[in-house]
Amino acid sequence: MEKVVERILISEEEINQKVKELGEKLSHDYKDKDVLFICVLKGAIMFMSDLSKAMSIPIEMDFMAVSSYGASTKSSGIVKIIKDLDASIEDRHVVVIEDIIDTGLTLSYLIKILQNRKPASLKICTLLDKPARRTVDIKPDYSGFVIEDHFVVGYGLDYDEKYRNIPYIFIPKSDIIK
Ligand code: 5GP
Repeated sequence: MEKVVERILISEEEINQKVKELGEKLSHDYKDKDVLFICVLKGAIMFMSDLSKAMSIPIEMDFMAVSSYGASTKSSGIVKIIKDLDASIEDRHVVVIEDIIDTGLTLSYLIKILQNRKPASLKICTLLDKPARRTVDIKPDYSGFVIEDHFVVGYGLDYDEKYRNIPYIFIPKSDIIK
């Protein structure tokens, strides 16, 4: 990994600690409700997996995939559903689990679609938040780390479909980014 990593931004220990805290908070907030976590694929897989294990209440899970950056590092603003949910969310208490909110375009589009399906409540939980690059007004209800304007990789986040399995979040060397 030395050839690829410029700097580790968030260590495995820091992620574990934050996920534990978020799990406790969400377990408390949803203790009297049946909650459905929606994992936004593929970037949120690690976060969803660890966060759900940090919950002290039973949860349900569903998965959705939307197009975002492809192999480039810039948002096109064009978002489409690649994989939809398996079940209805009408009258459900839903938490959308995201890896990162950057411009906010992907999530604001997704939230509009999900709101139209009439959930009982709809909240956003993101591991990372990059507010400096926001172009639409969207704020997470639960957030792990607010980060500066860096392109980051690891713990679910990819560069060209690689490095999702790396257990920490890092800034890649500029020469690996096309
Ligand atoms: P947005 O629509 O908010 O600009 O981008 C949302 C999606 O773009 C995220 O779910 C993520 O897949 C991707 N993305 C945004 N910033 C980064 C980043 O710093 N690194 C990686 N690997 N993906 C990012």
